[in-house]
Amino acid sequence: MAKAEGSDIFAIVREMALAGFGDLEKEIIRCSDCSLREGATNPVIMKGSRTPKVLFIGEAPGRTEDMTGIPFSGRAGKKLDEMIVYMGLSGEDYAVINTVKCRPPNNRKPLKSEIAACRPFMMAQIKMLAPKVIILLGNTAEEAFCGGRELEWGTPKVAEGITILKIYHPAAMIYQRARMEEQKALIDRNRHLWE
Ligand code: SF4
Repeated sequence: MAKAEGSDIFAIVREMALAGFGDLEKEIIRCSDCSLREGATNPVIMKGSRTPKVLFIGEAPGRTEDMTGIPFSGRAGKKLDEMIVYMGLSGEDYAVINTVKCRPPNNRKPLKSEIAACRPFMMAQIKMLAPKVIILLGNTAEEAFCGGRELEWGTPKVAEGITILKIYHPAAMIYQRARMEEQKALIDRNRHLWE
């Protein structure tokens, strides 16, 4: 399995998914296909179940995640945990990944070229995890997954048998209590998707 050797993303993703979680992890750990690797301490791969009902996709690792190698392990992670409790999900029900696996400098948004370089990993993870619902945490996750903006906040769409839903990134709720209430309303409207 070698991501840089092919240009057909479908073939690359298929090959990665067939190789399994262990090989995919090794491939991510040794990847230097974009400049984000230079400033990263640890690539941040995933956390949660390998058979999730719900897959959350965030933007990129931050400082804490870069240190721990675990997605959403910092302040935004606490907000995500609150959301997950509110959604009624158990540990076996969900997994969490990001659009890029290495931390962008100064927590800037990942560039389109960086997202494109890392996309085969994200798509292979989706194929392997095979969730019923993908929850995109914010616009960057939507752009990475959909290739552009096409979703309304909290309005699900079905694509290739998977339900896709965009809600707010947990970081948006750290300082805004009102945003948390809006998020809860989006969750309440969509509970039937995972219950
Ligand atoms: S962000 Fe993704 S593509 Fe870029 S170096 Fe890290 S693993 Fe490779």
